[in-house]
Parts: sequence; structure tokens; C-alpha cells
Amino acid sequence: MAIIGFIGLGIMGRPMAKNLINGGHKLVVYDKFAKFDDLVSLGAEGAASSKEVASKSDIIITMLPNSPHVKEAILGAGGVLEGLKSGSIVIDMSSIAPAVAQEVGAAVMAKNGAFLDAPVSGGEPKAIDGTLAIMVGGDKKTFEKVKPILDKMGSSVVLVGDIGAGNVTKLANQIIVALNIAGLSEAFVLATKAGVNPEAVFDAIKGGLAGSAAMNAKIPMILEGNFKPGFRVELHIKDLQNALDTAHNLSVPIPLTAQIMESFQALRVDGMDTNDHCSLIRHYEKLAKVEVRK
Ligand code: NAD
Repeated sequence: MAIIGFIGLGIMGRPMAKNLINGGHKLVVYDKFAKFDDLVSLGAEGAASSKEVASKSDIIITMLPNSPHVKEAILGAGGVLEGLKSGSIVIDMSSIAPAVAQEVGAAVMAKNGAFLDAPVSGGEPKAIDGTLAIMVGGDKKTFEKVKPILDKMGSSVVLVGDIGAGNVTKLANQIIVALNIAGLSEAFVLATKAGVNPEAVFDAIKGGLAGSAAMNAKIPMILEGNFKPGFRVELHIKDLQNALDTAHNLSVPIPLTAQIMESFQALRVDGMDTNDHCSLIRHYEKLAKVEVRK
């Protein structure tokens, strides 16, 4: 069975790696900052660098914050490329700029490796359950080789196009999630200030056309006043910045995304960078001087 390297063991990477171990795979793991004794005690081999991971693996998965981290871990000193075996497959599952996915993919292919960009949606709960939505860019042959492995982390694994298409799809996903949370925020702030119980509003509308996965995931957290991430504000700012840059390079105006970016910037000023992104409602709560709680 192929040995899988896993680099980046944060909120998402750690449970994803655990699902691969529980699925019977031999893993070699590394994180530059976080400890990974828990994975070693489950049977994974710990490594001291991304280079070491690559030298001991046939398939290398990265799950890192953003483009610069992926470039460092794959292209940088002590990185994956230095240890890459000919014929290995690198799968970057981080959400990064599509152009950087293409740049990294070209570098991996120049060293006789194969590359897929395969960002995910669903957040920590779905990473733990192994039910992520995985959107993949790359060639069909490589995709089919690794699909059984991706199936152990996700319940929906879809090839959307060539390298970079995975991250374009993820940017579309992140625009929709941001607009969805902003819409929820305006609506629930209005209902609460009008004197209607927000819990009753949620129960009344979640099964109708306004209902959404974002509503089901975020309104219960908001009602509890639970803003623990989850998905951090700073990561959503990163995704919206990548969306704005990519859109502007293609001459696509995205005015609603730009507006929500500014609301996220206001949260950053209020020190909420590391809170869950459903904290967006706190910006709207501040404007209307009301709190949407149980
Ligand atoms: P995280 O910050 O919790 O984890 C990232 C890990 O990468 C950290 O443990 C960090 O120490 C490690 N790291 C950073 N630079 C490194 C390097 N050069 N070499 C090795 N390790 C390095 O982030 P996360 O929430 O797990 O998110 C990872 C990616 O998944 C991001 O691109 C994010 O946008 C995306 N994502 C997150 C969620 C979510 O709900 N958290 C959902 C979908 C997608």
C-alpha cells in the first residue's frame, strides 16, 4: 500500500490525517509549529521536515494556511521538492491562490511528480467525520489513482478541471459562504431588534428556501454566543483577498465580496481575527446595538 505523507496538522489536517490512519494507511507526518505526538501514538511516523516526509512517501498531502506556506513547504529549503521521489503524487488540500497552485504544480511536474490541487469545504466537524466536500484540479489519471484516499476524508470528491480549478472552485465556495453569513447576520439582527425570538426565526425558516448549510452550522453557534473557531476570520480574509486578486486579474468585478471584506476588516480592528467567521454577525450587531442570542 502506498505510504502517505501529511504536512500541516492544524484544525483541518489533524483530523484528516487521523481518518487516513483509521482507514488503514501508513502515514509520515510533519508540522512546522504544532506537535503531533497524538498521531505518532496512533501509528504514524513523525518526520523532522517536509523534505523527509517526501523522501519516505509515495503520496504527499499538504494542508497549510495559504499560498506562501505552501510555497515554503513544497518549493522552499528543506521542502517537499528536495525529497520528492520520481512518480510521487503531491496533493495540496490547502485553500490558496489558483495561480500559485499552477506554479507549484509545474515545479512538481518538472521533478517527475504529479500534482493535484484539492481544497475542501465543510469545516472542522466534517474533517472529523470524514465527510468533507473536496474539489479537485488536475489530470484524470492521477485523480483516479488517489480517489480512494480522498474518499476516506470526504463524502463528495469531484474533479472540476485542470490544476488550479480546485482553488477557483474553492474561491467561489468562499464567496458564497461569506455572502451567506452576511445575509444571515442582517436578517437575524433585524428580527431580534424587532422583538422576535431568533431561535423561533431559525426554526421557522431553516426548512424553506432561505435555509442553508451555513445557516444550520452558524446560527446555533451564534445563539450560544460561541465564536470559537472552526474557521478563523483571518482565513476567510485570506480567501476573500485571493478571490479579489483572482477576479481583478480576470477583469471580473465582485462588489459584494469587496463589501464583506471591509466588514471582516472591521472585525480585525476589533481584535476578532482568530474568532470563528460567524463573528461577522458581531459587526452587524454593533451597527444595530443588539445581540442575537438565546
Ligand atoms: P491551521 O492554521 O489550524 O493549520 C495549519 C497548520 O499548518 C498549522 O498547524 C501550522 O503549524 C502548519 N504550518 C504552517 N506553515 C507550515 C510549513 N511551512 N510547514 C509545515 N507546517 C506548516 O489551519 P486550518 O484551519 O487547518 O486550515 C488549513 C487550510 O484549510 C487553510 O487553507 C484553510 O483556509 C482551509 N480550510 C479550513 C477550514 C476550517 O474550517 N478550518 C475549512 C475549509 C478549508
